[in-house]
Amino acid sequence: MTYREPDGVDEQDWDAYLKVSGYINQIPPTVLQSAQSSRPTFQLPSLPKVDLGWVAIAGFGVLLGYMYMTATPTEETNVTLWDKILSTSKNIVTFSANHTEAAIDFINPAAEMQDTVRKGDSIAGFVVTDDMNGVRDYGKHAAIDLGTPEGTSIRMPYDGTIKPVEDDNCGYGAYIYLKQAPNYQIVLCHLLTPPLEGEFKAQEIVARSGATGRGSGPHLHVQLWKIEITADGQVKRVGKPLTPSKDLLTRLLRSF
Ligand SMILES: [Zn+2]
Repeated sequence: MTYREPDGVDEQDWDAYLKVSGYINQIPPTVLQSAQSSRPTFQLPSLPKVDLGWVAIAGFGVLLGYMYMTATPTEETNVTLWDKILSTSKNIVTFSANHTEAAIDFINPAAEMQDTVRKGDSIAGFVVTDDMNGVRDYGKHAAIDLGTPEGTSIRMPYDGTIKPVEDDNCGYGAYIYLKQAPNYQIVLCHLLTPPLEGEFKAQEIVARSGATGRGSGPHLHVQLWKIEITADGQVKRVGKPLTPSKDLLTRLLRSF
Protein backbone atom coordinates (compact mmCIF):
# COMPACT_ATOMS: atom_id res chain seq x y z
CA MET A 1 0.00 0.00 0.00
CA THR A 2 1.43 3.40 -0.91
CA TYR A 3 0.48 6.75 0.40
CA ARG A 4 0.89 9.93 -1.48
CA GLU A 5 0.76 13.26 0.22
CA PRO A 6 -1.58 15.53 -1.70
CA ASP A 7 -0.41 18.98 -2.73
CA GLY A 8 -1.03 21.60 -0.07
CA VAL A 9 -1.03 19.16 2.87
CA ASP A 10 1.86 19.78 5.18
CA GLU A 11 3.41 17.45 7.75
CA GLN A 12 1.29 18.69 10.64
CA ASP A 13 -1.88 17.87 8.70
CA TRP A 14 -0.81 14.35 7.75
CA ASP A 15 -2.62 12.60 10.62
CA ALA A 16 -5.74 14.67 10.02
CA TYR A 17 -5.59 13.74 6.32
CA LEU A 18 -5.38 10.06 7.13
CA LYS A 19 -8.40 10.37 9.41
CA VAL A 20 -10.50 12.43 7.01
CA SER A 21 -9.72 10.14 4.12
CA GLY A 22 -10.78 7.11 6.18
CA TYR A 23 -7.43 5.33 5.93
CA ILE A 24 -6.85 5.51 9.63
CA ASN A 25 -9.83 3.28 10.35
CA GLN A 26 -9.27 0.81 7.51
CA ILE A 27 -5.67 -0.21 7.94
CA PRO A 28 -3.97 -2.25 10.67
CA PRO A 29 -2.02 -0.19 13.29
CA THR A 30 1.35 -1.64 12.24
CA VAL A 31 0.83 -0.57 8.63
CA LEU A 32 -0.44 2.81 9.76
CA GLN A 33 2.64 3.28 11.91
CA SER A 34 4.84 2.36 8.99
CA ALA A 35 2.99 4.81 6.77
CA GLN A 36 3.32 7.58 9.34
CA SER A 37 7.02 6.98 9.83
CA SER A 38 7.61 7.11 6.11
CA ARG A 39 5.66 10.30 5.65
CA PRO A 40 7.31 12.54 3.18
CA THR A 41 9.29 15.46 4.56
CA PHE A 42 9.92 18.80 3.03
CA GLN A 43 13.51 19.77 2.44
CA LEU A 44 14.70 23.23 1.57
CA PRO A 45 16.89 23.43 -1.52
CA SER A 46 20.49 23.43 -0.29
CA LEU A 47 22.25 26.79 -0.46
CA PRO A 48 25.82 27.05 -1.67
CA LYS A 49 28.16 26.85 1.32
CA VAL A 50 30.07 30.03 2.19
CA ASP A 51 33.39 29.89 4.02
CA LEU A 52 33.38 32.78 6.51
CA GLY A 53 37.18 32.85 6.55
CA TRP A 54 37.28 33.79 2.88
CA VAL A 55 34.59 36.41 3.44
CA ALA A 56 36.74 37.95 6.20
CA ILE A 57 39.85 37.91 4.02
CA ALA A 58 37.99 39.49 1.11
CA GLY A 59 36.54 42.13 3.43
CA PHE A 60 39.98 42.93 4.82
CA GLY A 61 41.32 43.22 1.27
CA VAL A 62 38.59 45.69 0.38
CA LEU A 63 39.37 47.68 3.54
CA LEU A 64 43.09 47.78 2.70
CA GLY A 65 42.27 48.88 -0.84
CA TYR A 66 40.05 51.64 0.51
CA MET A 67 42.74 52.79 2.94
CA TYR A 68 45.32 52.83 0.16
CA MET A 69 43.01 54.78 -2.17
CA THR A 70 42.20 57.38 0.49
CA ALA A 71 45.72 57.72 1.92
CA THR A 72 47.26 61.19 2.06
CA PRO A 73 50.44 61.76 0.03
CA THR A 74 52.58 61.30 3.19
CA GLU A 75 51.08 57.88 3.86
CA GLU A 76 51.62 56.86 0.27
CA THR A 77 55.28 57.76 0.64
CA ASN A 78 55.44 55.59 3.75
CA VAL A 79 53.84 52.68 1.95
CA THR A 80 56.47 52.91 -0.75
CA LEU A 81 59.25 53.18 1.79
CA TRP A 82 57.93 50.21 3.74
CA ASP A 83 57.78 48.10 0.58
CA LYS A 84 61.36 49.07 -0.11
CA ILE A 85 62.46 48.05 3.38
CA LEU A 86 60.70 44.71 3.12
CA SER A 87 62.23 44.01 -0.26
CA THR A 88 65.74 44.83 0.86
CA SER A 89 65.80 43.43 4.37
CA LYS A 90 65.43 39.83 5.42
CA ASN A 91 65.13 40.46 9.14
CA ILE A 92 62.18 42.82 9.46
CA VAL A 93 59.05 40.86 8.82
CA THR A 94 57.47 40.51 12.23
CA PHE A 95 55.81 43.89 12.73
CA SER A 96 52.06 43.87 12.90
CA ALA A 97 50.06 46.46 10.98
CA ASN A 98 49.80 48.65 14.08
CA HIS A 99 53.54 48.95 14.28
CA THR A 100 54.24 49.57 10.63
CA GLU A 101 54.41 53.31 11.00
CA ALA A 102 56.98 53.15 13.77
CA ALA A 103 59.12 50.71 11.83
CA ILE A 104 59.06 52.89 8.73
CA ASP A 105 60.00 55.95 10.67
CA PHE A 106 63.31 54.91 12.04
CA ILE A 107 64.54 51.64 10.61
CA ASN A 108 66.81 52.46 7.75
CA PRO A 109 68.76 49.32 6.97
CA ALA A 110 69.10 49.46 3.23
CA ALA A 111 72.42 50.61 1.85
CA GLU A 112 70.81 52.99 -0.64
CA MET A 113 68.99 54.72 2.20
CA GLN A 114 72.08 55.59 4.21
CA ASP A 115 72.25 59.18 2.98
CA THR A 116 68.73 60.32 3.76
CA VAL A 117 69.87 62.95 6.27
CA ARG A 118 72.60 65.36 5.16
CA LYS A 119 74.67 68.08 6.75
CA GLY A 120 72.84 71.38 6.21
CA ASP A 121 69.35 69.85 6.24
CA SER A 122 66.79 71.45 8.50
CA ILE A 123 64.87 69.14 10.82
CA ALA A 124 62.09 70.48 13.05
CA GLY A 125 63.71 73.90 12.66
CA PHE A 126 67.19 72.70 13.70
CA VAL A 127 70.15 72.46 11.34
CA VAL A 128 72.02 69.19 10.81
CA THR A 129 75.56 70.23 11.72
CA ASP A 130 77.12 66.88 10.83
CA ASP A 131 75.97 63.66 9.21
CA MET A 132 76.96 59.99 9.00
CA ASN A 133 79.99 60.83 6.87
CA GLY A 134 81.64 63.20 9.35
CA VAL A 135 85.19 62.33 10.47
CA ARG A 136 86.54 62.80 13.99
CA ASP A 137 89.88 62.11 15.63
CA TYR A 138 88.36 58.85 16.90
CA GLY A 139 87.18 57.82 13.44
CA LYS A 140 83.94 58.10 11.51
CA HIS A 141 81.23 60.13 13.19
CA ALA A 142 78.44 57.70 12.10
CA ALA A 143 75.69 59.74 13.76
CA ILE A 144 73.56 62.81 13.12
CA ASP A 145 74.35 66.04 14.96
CA LEU A 146 71.62 68.63 15.32
CA GLY A 147 72.45 72.19 16.31
CA THR A 148 70.12 72.51 19.30
CA PRO A 149 70.33 75.36 21.82
CA GLU A 150 70.79 74.21 25.40
CA GLY A 151 67.49 73.19 26.96
CA THR A 152 65.78 72.08 23.74
CA SER A 153 63.14 69.53 24.68
CA ILE A 154 63.75 65.94 23.63
CA ARG A 155 60.65 63.77 23.44
CA MET A 156 60.03 60.07 23.14
CA PRO A 157 59.28 59.44 19.46
CA TYR A 158 57.12 56.42 20.40
CA ASP A 159 56.38 54.42 23.53
CA GLY A 160 59.54 52.91 24.93
CA THR A 161 62.22 52.73 27.56
CA ILE A 162 65.05 55.11 28.29
CA LYS A 163 68.27 54.30 30.15
CA PRO A 164 71.28 56.49 30.92
CA VAL A 165 74.47 56.14 28.87
CA GLU A 166 77.57 55.48 30.92
CA ASP A 167 80.19 57.01 28.68
CA ASP A 168 82.38 60.04 29.51
CA ASN A 169 82.75 61.16 25.90
CA CYS A 170 79.01 61.34 25.59
CA GLY A 171 78.58 63.56 28.64
CA TYR A 172 75.04 63.02 29.80
CA GLY A 173 73.47 60.60 27.39
CA ALA A 174 70.53 58.27 26.96
CA TYR A 175 69.70 55.00 25.27
CA ILE A 176 66.18 54.76 23.90
CA TYR A 177 64.59 51.37 23.19
CA LEU A 178 61.30 51.62 21.37
CA LYS A 179 58.60 49.17 22.33
CA GLN A 180 57.56 48.64 18.72
CA ALA A 181 61.04 47.66 17.58
CA PRO A 182 63.08 46.28 20.46
CA ASN A 183 65.95 45.28 18.17
CA TYR A 184 67.11 48.86 17.76
CA GLN A 185 68.83 51.30 20.04
CA ILE A 186 68.86 55.07 19.71
CA VAL A 187 71.72 56.88 21.43
CA LEU A 188 71.43 60.54 22.43
CA CYS A 189 74.50 62.43 23.66
CA HIS A 190 75.58 65.72 25.26
CA LEU A 191 72.33 66.22 27.19
CA LEU A 192 71.97 69.14 29.59
CA THR A 193 71.33 66.96 32.63
CA PRO A 194 71.10 63.22 33.30
CA PRO A 195 68.11 61.93 31.36
CA LEU A 196 64.99 60.55 32.97
CA GLU A 197 64.97 56.77 33.26
CA GLY A 198 62.19 54.19 32.78
CA GLU A 199 59.20 53.66 30.53
CA PHE A 200 57.66 56.59 28.71
CA LYS A 201 54.86 57.28 26.29
CA ALA A 202 55.29 58.91 22.90
CA GLN A 203 55.58 62.71 23.09
CA GLU A 204 56.70 62.78 26.71
CA ILE A 205 59.71 65.01 27.33
CA VAL A 206 62.55 62.82 28.62
CA ALA A 207 65.59 65.08 28.31
CA ARG A 208 66.96 68.54 27.40
CA SER A 209 69.76 68.98 24.92
CA GLY A 210 73.04 70.45 26.15
CA ALA A 211 76.77 70.55 25.51
CA THR A 212 78.17 68.03 27.98
CA GLY A 213 81.02 65.64 27.11
CA ARG A 214 83.18 65.88 24.02
CA GLY A 215 81.94 68.48 21.56
CA SER A 216 82.51 71.95 20.18
CA GLY A 217 79.19 73.43 21.30
CA PRO A 218 75.58 72.71 22.14
CA HIS A 219 74.11 70.03 19.93
CA LEU A 220 72.25 66.74 20.05
CA HIS A 221 74.12 63.67 18.81
CA VAL A 222 71.77 60.92 17.58
CA GLN A 223 73.03 57.45 16.69
CA LEU A 224 70.98 54.42 15.66
CA TRP A 225 72.10 50.81 16.12
CA LYS A 226 70.65 47.43 15.40
CA ILE A 227 71.13 45.30 18.52
CA GLU A 228 70.89 41.74 19.79
CA ILE A 229 70.20 40.61 23.32
CA THR A 230 72.69 37.90 24.24
CA ALA A 231 71.83 34.76 26.22
CA ASP A 232 73.02 36.45 29.42
CA GLY A 233 70.87 39.51 28.76
CA GLN A 234 73.58 41.85 27.45
CA VAL A 235 72.91 44.31 24.64
CA LYS A 236 75.18 43.60 21.67
CA ARG A 237 75.37 45.97 18.72
CA VAL A 238 75.17 44.46 15.25
CA GLY A 239 76.99 45.86 12.23
CA LYS A 240 77.53 49.58 11.68
CA PRO A 241 75.39 52.49 12.86
CA LEU A 242 72.30 53.14 10.76
CA THR A 243 71.07 56.50 9.59
CA PRO A 244 68.20 57.79 11.73
CA SER A 245 65.40 58.93 9.46
CA LYS A 246 64.15 62.51 9.27
CA ASP A 247 60.87 61.37 10.75
CA LEU A 248 62.55 59.91 13.81
CA LEU A 249 64.67 63.04 14.34
CA THR A 250 61.63 65.26 13.90
CA ARG A 251 59.73 63.27 16.51
CA LEU A 252 62.63 63.51 18.95
CA LEU A 253 62.94 67.27 18.63
CA ARG A 254 60.10 69.54 19.47
CA SER A 255 61.00 73.04 20.58
CA PHE A 256 58.95 74.85 23.21
ZN1 LIG B 1 77.83 63.80 17.05
